[in-house]
Amino acid sequence: MNPSATVGVTCHSPNAVLTDPDGSPVRREIVLRTEALTRTYCMGDSTVHALRAANLVVKRGDFVALMGASGSGKSTLLSLLGLLDRPTSGSYWLEDVEVSTLGRNRLAELRGQRIGFIFQNFNLLARIAAWENVALPLAYRGGKVGHGEQKKMAMESLDRVGLANRAGHRPTELSGGQRQRVAIARALVTQPAVILADEPTGNLDSTTGLEIMNLLHDLHAEGRTIVMVTHDPLIARHANRVCTMRDGMLTEE
Ligand code: ADP
Ligand code: MG
Repeated sequence: MNPSATVGVTCHSPNAVLTDPDGSPVRREIVLRTEALTRTYCMGDSTVHALRAANLVVKRGDFVALMGASGSGKSTLLSLLGLLDRPTSGSYWLEDVEVSTLGRNRLAELRGQRIGFIFQNFNLLARIAAWENVALPLAYRGGKVGHGEQKKMAMESLDRVGLANRAGHRPTELSGGQRQRVAIARALVTQPAVILADEPTGNLDSTTGLEIMNLLHDLHAEGRTIVMVTHDPLIARHANRVCTMRDGMLTEE
C-alpha cells in the first residue's frame, strides 16, 4: 500500500498524458498545484483535521468539481486555493509562485489579481450599481486602473454574461440568476488564473441554476480554469474532473 494513502490521497496522476478531444497528447500549463496541503483547526483540547495532505494539480482549462458531504473540508480547501486562508503545512504553487509562506499584503494582492470568486450568496454590495460591483476588483488596485477604464472593463465583462443592459441596476433590482451573473462578471473582470466557485447554484431554482451552469460551461469551453464546489451530482456532470472530499481527504474519480 502506498504509505501516503494513510495521510492523504493523491488527486492527480503526475505522469498521465492528457489528450485533446481528437486523442492527440497536449501539454497544458499548470495553473495551481498543492503538495501535502494540510489545514488543522485547534479547538481547545481537540484538533480538527479539516484538510489532510491534499495533492491537487489543476491545469489551464480544467473544470474541476469538488464534491463531498457537509463538513468534509471542501470550503477549507477552496479558501486555501483562493488565498483566503493559510495552510498548517504543505506547499501551494499558484502559477509560478509558492504562496503558502507569503505575507498578508502580498497574498491579498495576488488574490485580487489572479483569483476570481463566485459564492453561493453572490456577495454583491447592495447599494451600488451592477457595473460598480463588477469594477470593484479593479478599484482595489490602488489607482492603477483609471475610472474610465474600470467602467469600460466592467461593461465588457457584463456584456459577456448577457447583462450589459442592466449595468445601472442595483442588485436588489435584479433576480437571483442575474445577481449571480453579475458576480460571475466580477470574477472575470481581472482575467484571473482560476475561477473558484463555492456552490454557485445553491441559492437558485433548478432552471436558473441550469442557466448559470450553461454559462460556466461556456466559460470553460473558452479555455477558462474553474474549480467548483457542489454536492449535486447533476451539477458536477458539467465538470471534466470530479474530486471528492471525505473527512478531509481528497480523491479523484
Ligand atoms: P465543507 O465545506 O465540506 O462543508 P468545511 O471545510 O467547512 O467543510 O469544514 C471542514 C471541517 O473543518 C469541519 O469539521 C468543520 O467543522 C471544521 N472547520 C471549518 N472551519 C473551521 C474553523 N474556522 N474553526 C474550527 N473548525 C472549522
Ligand atoms: Mg462548505
